[in-house]
Amino acid sequence: SRQFFVGGNFKMNPNSVSEKRALTELLNQAHLDPSVEVVVSPPFLYLIPLKEILRKEIKIAAQNCYFKDSGAFTGEISPVQLKDAGIPYVILGHSERRTLFHETSEIVAQKTKAALASSLSQRETGKTTEVCSEQLKAVVSVLSEADWSKIVIAYEPVWAIGTGKVATSTQAQETHADIRAYLSSAVSPAVAKSTRIIYGGSVNKGNCKELSVQPDVDGFLVGGASLKPEFVDIINATL
Ligand code: 13P
Repeated sequence: SRQFFVGGNFKMNPNSVSEKRALTELLNQAHLDPSVEVVVSPPFLYLIPLKEILRKEIKIAAQNCYFKDSGAFTGEISPVQLKDAGIPYVILGHSERRTLFHETSEIVAQKTKAALASSLSQRETGKTTEVCSEQLKAVVSVLSEADWSKIVIAYEPVWAIGTGKVATSTQAQETHADIRAYLSSAVSPAVAKSTRIIYGGSVNKGNCKELSVQPDVDGFLVGGASLKPEFVDIINATL
């Protein structure tokens, strides 16, 4: 069965050393459900410091990487560099990267392939059936069946990101089931069964339990609430 996964996407936060310290202390001291895979994703600057001070059970993810190993790509970080720094996950294809930084599905697919070549994992995707399949298609076309064991798919409806408007549990379940059906036909039934599909978009402590009981919701990718004490309640949603 699929291990419940809760990711905290800090985006371009926190903005001060004191906020960062408060967040770290909170996570280090809280009781966290040991059956949940917990991953936090701070900005590049804080990847290594956070990895060093956070409790070992919490893993770290980068929020982006490029698809080349090294070279003249000012401002970019390579999957090889992330791997060398001991960062096991990277978020790829977030809707903010697509809309604000013009990443196409092809670029996301290239990045995903490069990240897997360096043994990293995790990507994200967004929106309803056509958009999901259009975005997934590009990734499916560059991956082998074995690569999928290292992928976590995040479904994040763009209207739900940072808006306080969460998808209903029925909406989330329907889309997650559609994504799983797509994986079954485009990759294989085994991959569809084992790949975790997590929900993101205004997840908070009030709505996480109802979402978590949906059969195809395998965890969350949390933005704003991952910077607050309620992140612990979200990690423990299935307790
Ligand atoms: P919010 O939880 O702030 O809506 O953000 C969701 C998100 O984009 C996580 O990647």
